[in-house]
Amino acid sequence: MATTRQHPIRCPLCEHEQEVALWDVLDIDREPELHERLLKGEINRVTCASCAGSFAVSKPLVYRHLERELMVFLDPVNNGRTLDEVVADFSRTVGNLDQLMPTDVPLPEIHLVIEPGELVERVFLREQQMDARLVEHIKYLMYRRNPEKLPAGQMNLLFNPLDSTPEQLCFMAQNRATGRIEAALHFQRSDYDALAEAFAAEAGPSLLEEQFPGPYFSGRLLVLQDLAEEAAEAEEEG
Ligand SMILES: [Zn+2]
Repeated sequence: MATTRQHPIRCPLCEHEQEVALWDVLDIDREPELHERLLKGEINRVTCASCAGSFAVSKPLVYRHLERELMVFLDPVNNGRTLDEVVADFSRTVGNLDQLMPTDVPLPEIHLVIEPGELVERVFLREQQMDARLVEHIKYLMYRRNPEKLPAGQMNLLFNPLDSTPEQLCFMAQNRATGRIEAALHFQRSDYDALAEAFAAEAGPSLLEEQFPGPYFSGRLLVLQDLAEEAAEAEEEG
């Protein structure tokens, strides 16, 4: 399976158009060094032949590491598509995956993300054996507790394993407009463990799955949906 293809790309800085090879699939089982390159932000980054400017290309990308039982589909909501359409495309792809997967390996966890930062985060979470839904639940709590410092419309929250300690999980608050990291926020690991235990102890369908049915789930998006609903209710009440 080819993992890169040529694409005509126009430089956002000088409009120069060039053909560049971009990754469609990162097959980490076969090319483990791609993992590091992804973390360094080198994947699907282009240097313009005319102005030497450097920019990232937003395009679909599959991260596949079957040894770690992980597949992440990055599909940016662009080219006039809605999130619903991206989810429908994902469901079709995953529906066909059963036939494509070797039968002698365990089925991987399969994730859908729409931003590159989320892709890297899911890879980190898998490494740390953390539950992605529970992490989104924690982000939801952090957004709701800090609406002024952490407005969900403007700020991403991304798990940072490098600055996490045995006591505290570290999250970076990233300005969505500038990409800049503006703050580090912490969440007690003992609280994470207590929540994980409480959710695991439930009988029947997990509350986490009810909160985040997926296949795309995001604590930030859920906060924005809740805020929109609350604003609509407040308006009805006059
Ligand atoms: Zn250029």
